[in-house]
Amino acid sequence: MSKVKENFVIPGDFLGTSEEFLSMNGTYKDKGNIYAANTGVVKIDTKERSVSVVPQTSTPPIPKVGDIVLGRVSDIKSSVVLVDISRIKGREDREIATLKQGAIHISNIKDAYVKELEYEFGFQDIVRAKVIDDKTLRLSTDNKSLGVIKAICSRCRVVLKSKNNKLECPKCGRIETRKIADDYGSGNI
Ligand code: ZN
Repeated sequence: MSKVKENFVIPGDFLGTSEEFLSMNGTYKDKGNIYAANTGVVKIDTKERSVSVVPQTSTPPIPKVGDIVLGRVSDIKSSVVLVDISRIKGREDREIATLKQGAIHISNIKDAYVKELEYEFGFQDIVRAKVIDDKTLRLSTDNKSLGVIKAICSRCRVVLKSKNNKLECPKCGRIETRKIADDYGSGNI
């Protein structure tokens, strides 16, 4: 096995000289110097004395147990809320490429009896939840920091404002309830 050094480069980055290395895939030579021709990971094979740049294949982050995820409520069924997961907290720089749908079962909403899911979530609300099963993507909001962080008025689709422990629509005045995260309205994600 040759020793391979890895480093992330962008086009035009200096990689070495043609006296040091053979210029391979993803590189170009100019006046005896070798530069990166594309964005990727530089691979220097010290045995072959070659340098190449391997295009970075985007491996989208996959939610794991314990991850905090953000998503949008896509459906509310009798005992399950479906959430289209869009971000994993701590990895906000990376969009999840393929849409992942998580599910919050009625028993994982909060530490209290839930009668109707419609009192806890609204269609298209933004939710912060914890992954409790990464195979089936079961989520939980059973923590004060978890729950709805942006609630959408069911009548006029504008964002509800938190007011005296209630959520009020600034447009139509409608009052709605949600299982909100304790920092609802702060803009935190
Ligand atoms: Zn409204």
